[in-house]
Amino acid sequence: MAVFCQKCGQKAKKYKTECSDCGTKLSVPNIPTYTSASVASMIFFFLPTGLIALLYSLKVNKKIIEGDLDSAIKYSKKALLFCWISFLFVVFYLVFHFATN
Ligand SMILES: [Zn+2]
Repeated sequence: MAVFCQKCGQKAKKYKTECSDCGTKLSVPNIPTYTSASVASMIFFFLPTGLIALLYSLKVNKKIIEGDLDSAIKYSKKALLFCWISFLFVVFYLVFHFATN
């Protein structure tokens, strides 16, 4: 979901809470939660690491609501990391599977 500056219309950069052009504080901080990516990781890739990703993504939402944006950014990056770990787990599994057969 793209976030735009309400003053100048500039598209907000990821993990920014204010406009990079005019410095206006964004009404919605541009912090992705990766909830759907986490759920997809659980279902299609590897359940344990996908679940960790989902737990982090839920914390992102909670921290945004609490106004703790630094923690929200931290958890957002961790959620993404665990989505990637889930994906890479499947890639390595498949490579190993075909390499040994
Ligand atoms: Zn702006």
